[in-house]
Amino acid sequence: MTTSNAHTTRSIKSLEAENARLRAELERLSTLPQEMASAIARQMATERTLRDEIAAHKETEERLRQRERDMQSVLDNLPSMIGYWDRNLRNRFANHAYRTWFGLDPDQIPGMHIRDVIGEERFRLNLPHIEAALAGRPQTFERAIPAPDGSRTRHSLAHYIPDVVDGEVQGFYVLVSNITEVKEAQAAALASNARFDELARAILVGVYTCRLWSDGSVVFDYVSPRFCQLLALNADEVLADASKAFAVAHPEDLPSLVEANREAAVSLEPFHWEGRMVVNGEIRWMQIDSSGTRQPDGCSRWNGVVTDVTERKNLELALRLSNTDLKQFAYVASHDLQTPLRNIVSYLQLLDRRYGDKLDDDAREFIGFAVNGAKQMTALINDLLEYSRVDSRPRETTPVDMTTVVAEVRGRLGPGLAAAGAELVVEGTLPVVPGDRIQLTQLVQNLVGNALKYRDPGRPLVIRIHAQDNGPMTTLAIADNGIGIEPEFHERIFNIFQRLHTATEYEGTGIGLALCKRVAERHGGRIWVESTLGQGSTFKVSLPA
Ligand code: ADP
Repeated sequence: MTTSNAHTTRSIKSLEAENARLRAELERLSTLPQEMASAIARQMATERTLRDEIAAHKETEERLRQRERDMQSVLDNLPSMIGYWDRNLRNRFANHAYRTWFGLDPDQIPGMHIRDVIGEERFRLNLPHIEAALAGRPQTFERAIPAPDGSRTRHSLAHYIPDVVDGEVQGFYVLVSNITEVKEAQAAALASNARFDELARAILVGVYTCRLWSDGSVVFDYVSPRFCQLLALNADEVLADASKAFAVAHPEDLPSLVEANREAAVSLEPFHWEGRMVVNGEIRWMQIDSSGTRQPDGCSRWNGVVTDVTERKNLELALRLSNTDLKQFAYVASHDLQTPLRNIVSYLQLLDRRYGDKLDDDAREFIGFAVNGAKQMTALINDLLEYSRVDSRPRETTPVDMTTVVAEVRGRLGPGLAAAGAELVVEGTLPVVPGDRIQLTQLVQNLVGNALKYRDPGRPLVIRIHAQDNGPMTTLAIADNGIGIEPEFHERIFNIFQRLHTATEYEGTGIGLALCKRVAERHGGRIWVESTLGQGSTFKVSLPA
């Protein structure tokens, strides 16, 4: 090989080597952008994640802040006071109500010591509760305190709730409700109850409220002291067990009381019961009246009164007995007394007729007295019969024209009036009144008859009748110019058998005016006299117009 050849061969080899190196370098260089790109991509991904995380964090933070704001606004809008005091009794949180209750600036409280917020005196009072709460025991208590401006007393209900973390008390929550209105309403209710109690104690009737079910069962919700006194019962016992009240009912009257309750529970009609109760071993008549309203739960609530009507019942009973007696008497008088009396009179008259000429003057005078006595007795019986019939006649009310009544009386007493030269004058028009024509005629006849009987012999008798309107009543006046009546007898003459004269002075039975009184009262009116002794009398009768 020549030198030049060798040299050329070396140059080619080195060129080839350079070429290979360059190719390799080129190759390495061609892979580089890919690496870089992925590194950049990686970097960018990391950055994106970080950005996302930051955004998420920000969102969470915002959400938290929003929640805190919401919470604060909820707490601030609550009417109750809510706060938090840490272990050192420094405030961590207080809502709006809490701050205004103590009259402090809203932002003042956090960080403050509880003593400075609630004041020395209240702090001293509350300290046992504070200590208990810090010892982990929840507290509930009430307080009455004057408002900061010194106006009305406020009432609060406080709860201290310990904040326990991992068994350690960190502080306590305070929840205080303003119960001033509740307390004031309670106080008003108490005052009204006291007034009611006083009233229930003072009135003479027993007062109760009870609930009734349709099966007749009863529960008392209230019984007044008088109720207990009337029935000799203990309030607590009756409230616990209503049968205690039923147990005092007389065994014979108990069924009607139970039945009345059962009926009332169904019908809700006003309740009325009258019957006997055995109180302290004594029989008393009780009247129960109440009215009820249906309740949502199906029972009915009744407010009622219990009245002791024993005195009235006894009077009624006595009256009923005397009425029965009177009716029996009327029967006896009309049938059994009149016949023998007629016999006495007729035999005395027969004696006088047949043997009169054989008797001396004294004997005939005695017979005369006996006949007079018997006739007087007949009159008495007849009058009593009339009197007893006033009430026993069935009530019939028809329009009665008093002009006709007076005309009838004038007809009946005409001969007597004429014989006495008396004048009967009707002044103005007389009314038509609702009543019993026969009884009203009896009344007028008795009064005109009396005027005739008790006339003054020294002057001609004038009887004047007139009527006067008094709203719902009309007053009939019958005036005479007779002997008159002393004032002390003005009332007494209306009692049965009350006479101011002997039978020899004026004959009569003393029943006439008593009968007039009964008739007037039966018609819903009354009778009275205005009279001056020696001048005359005016009898006045008021009757429904
Ligand atoms: P009687 O006439 O049968 O005695 P009354 O009951 O009618 O019974 O009257 C009671 C008494 O009232 C009479 O006894 C009489 O004294 C007195 N009295 C009644 N009407 C008059 C009168 N118009 N004037 C004076 N006194 C009278």
